[in-house]
Amino acid sequence: MKWTDDRSDNVDDRRGTGGGGGGAIVGGGLGTLIIAAIIFFLGGDPSSLLSSGGGSSAPTEQRELNANELKIREFVRMVTAENEQTWSKIFAENGMRYQPAVVVLFEDATQSGCGPAQAAMGPFYCPADQKVYMDMSFFKELQQRFGAQVTEFSIAYVMAHEMGHHVQTLLGTTQKVDALRRSGRYSEADMNRVSVATELQADFYAGVWAKQTDSREQILEPGDIQSAIEAAEAVGDDNIQKRSQGYVNQESFTHGSSAQRKEWFMKGYNTGDIKQGDTFNQLLK
Ligand SMILES: [Zn+2]
Repeated sequence: MKWTDDRSDNVDDRRGTGGGGGGAIVGGGLGTLIIAAIIFFLGGDPSSLLSSGGGSSAPTEQRELNANELKIREFVRMVTAENEQTWSKIFAENGMRYQPAVVVLFEDATQSGCGPAQAAMGPFYCPADQKVYMDMSFFKELQQRFGAQVTEFSIAYVMAHEMGHHVQTLLGTTQKVDALRRSGRYSEADMNRVSVATELQADFYAGVWAKQTDSREQILEPGDIQSAIEAAEAVGDDNIQKRSQGYVNQESFTHGSSAQRKEWFMKGYNTGDIKQGDTFNQLLK
């Protein structure tokens, strides 16, 4: 991935500040259950967290960030800026105004508008405070546990996926899904399909972002799209279930299969058109 000169100021780097972000560290009990509920809502697997006996960890000492960590901050500021520019342009073309999201970089634990955030949760978007929470240790996990070759562009893809959830919030999709969930009229299997549609649409938006940003800034290098596809496939529900429980249960899918995640990312990339991303219509028949 080629770096551009753009940097966003909407990055809140909480690494190295000590104390895990000010009282976000929780023990077992209610805190853990809340985290489990958030993961469930976002479509992750909370069982690993629940079995770890609560998420308490020693407060991080205040320290200077090293050169590599500072480089990561620059990278995240650049990708955030390119999300802001691309989505501002797309929104303007559709007669709307884009409101940027803030990206929070953290380690171990921090506070989010959706409750305590922990590194074990992986990157996520919180609609309540419209912030993307990124713990970079997730990418080590992606490489070691889920077998994806992590590149700069695969990190950009994951960020663009989370930014895709922000777009869903700005467009009111998140609120509609919330209302469905709260209505209590749908079975767990139905709501899982809604969750899959939501996640696949975020992958689709990530593909649209990749295409449109490359058109503006020529960021893509050979192999980049392939590395994003590999990351999308690695976090497919079938791959995660196979690796964690040894079998695949399609009814419990919350993010979509590896094939679906690849398909929708590529549909976004090939069309570059946000109007082609109706994952709900295709999955809720
Ligand atoms: Zn997601």
